[in-house]
Amino acid sequence: MGTPLDSREAQVEEVIDRLHKEYPDSTISLNFATRLELLVAVVLSAQCTDERVNQVTEDLFEKYESAEDYAAADEEQLAEDIYGITFHNNKAGYLKGIGEILLEEHGGDVPDTMTALTDLPGVGRKTANVVLQHGHDVVEGIVVDTHVQRITRRLGLTEEERPEAIEEDLMPVVPEDEWQAFTHLLISHGRAVCTARNPDCTDCELEDLCPSSKLDHDTDLASGEVWS
Ligand code: SF4
Repeated sequence: MGTPLDSREAQVEEVIDRLHKEYPDSTISLNFATRLELLVAVVLSAQCTDERVNQVTEDLFEKYESAEDYAAADEEQLAEDIYGITFHNNKAGYLKGIGEILLEEHGGDVPDTMTALTDLPGVGRKTANVVLQHGHDVVEGIVVDTHVQRITRRLGLTEEERPEAIEEDLMPVVPEDEWQAFTHLLISHGRAVCTARNPDCTDCELEDLCPSSKLDHDTDLASGEVWS
């Protein structure tokens, strides 16, 4: 019986608690060894799978080791080097632009503020949050990717639709020391159970809390549409 707890705070706490038990090793799945590699991997991962990004970056990181390397790159060659990544032509332009700005304004290093990061081409608040959290240990917000967006809506934790609005809505409700874990727990759950097209509500450890559960609700609150 999918019934959410009385308050959003209680619902969040219970969700986090159960998902920690279910996915104790949940963390970022992109491979990187430096902050620059992290930044590049996260830029490449927009609308692309982490698995594909990891395949491509294996060679890319051997060839491009510094901001100078990206700044000096031939854009067409760079696009070829990231072929297989969604929007590889655009992203090659972003990477070259990022290399240039890092060199000109940050001594070749990856900056550690939200403003400086979001000034880089191809870097929005979500990408910046990931880089701050995993590159600088600075947790300024909650990363809202497609899994977080979908599942928080399904679980009745937010009615907002845009990632930025969802983040703002969740920040007062999710305990600050869980902001980073919250994203990874929901991503793990989104990949394993609560998938976009065919969530496995029967086997979901959150089923009794979920107002979208297919077992006793008609509507997917993420899309607002009737379950097919
Ligand atoms: S799998 Fe089903 S019950 Fe579980 S969180 Fe997703 S929609 Fe809710």
